Amino acid sequence: MAHRYLVERSRCPACAAEARETLFSCGLLEAPIREHLEALYAPQGCFEPEYLEDGRYELVECGACGLYYQVHVAGGELLGRIYERWIDPVKAFGLRQRSLTLDARMIQAREVVLAVQRHGGTEAPLRVLDYGMGWGSWCQMAMAFGCEAYGVESSPSRVAHARAHGITVVTAEKLGGLRFPFVNCDQVLEHLTEPLEALRVLAGCLGPGGLLKVSVPDGEDLCGRLARGRWLAAEGSPDSLLAVTPLQHVNCFRHENLVGMAARAGLRPAKLTLGELYASSVDGATPGRLVDSLTRPLGRRFLTRDTYVFFERRRAGREGSGGPR
Ligand SMILES: [Zn+2]
Repeated sequence: MAHRYLVERSRCPACAAEARETLFSCGLLEAPIREHLEALYAPQGCFEPEYLEDGRYELVECGACGLYYQVHVAGGELLGRIYERWIDPVKAFGLRQRSLTLDARMIQAREVVLAVQRHGGTEAPLRVLDYGMGWGSWCQMAMAFGCEAYGVESSPSRVAHARAHGITVVTAEKLGGLRFPFVNCDQVLEHLTEPLEALRVLAGCLGPGGLLKVSVPDGEDLCGRLARGRWLAAEGSPDSLLAVTPLQHVNCFRHENLVGMAARAGLRPAKLTLGELYASSVDGATPGRLVDSLTRPLGRRFLTRDTYVFFERRRAGREGSGGPR
């Protein structure tokens, strides 16, 4: 019988294959998952186990593309509960402000600088989109550079906050008629029941020469973390399993999964010039930062295998050809 608050995914959300192998499976209210959920949500708001009775946590690896994903995801009612109650909006806003360190703001600023350098002067003001904008900090950074900022967000409290700060809020359904030279999609695809569909929508609203920045948690060492099984490990710890936390991070990507899914959406990693990468990277505040900012663009240009990727549309005629798996 179908669960009242959970939705089952019978196919891989990145490639639609049915073949999969279970990596980890247990009841959502059994150890160690129940303790993981209590430890995660109690400090942020509350945890209501009654929504999860008889629910399962089943983490699988797609037999075709290798994506790690959860079979059972939250339906609309439970998602609303999680984002407006389990994560208390007032507490969440305070936590978000504290996590917006100077380094985090510098990364946002560099991304906006990249957009402005690439497209500035061709459209005034430059119109940018943050898909899954949360509290709107990236949009506010773009507005500080004179951009016209649009944002998509499902949480009512975050939408109200964004509107109050001058951000144009649009629904995902309205994106089809809009074009943007730069789209930001930061820590969003891991949350979505249908991430490939979202990528297709975003690919469709990229204007000529447009860039889509995608970043997601990196699942590179997931099997080692699962084997160590420290479900209460703190965020940032080498043992942390937050990249596959139940109900929220329902898709877990490695670089190749992300690039493969993007290919199915008609996207490829963008070929940024070293000039573009340097213009948006140099930070000489300390010798260490200068060395880092001089070497990072070389890594991004020639070596990167991580899950922070700039995408552009593939040329017409090659779209839909499938791409690497
Ligand atoms: Zn797949």
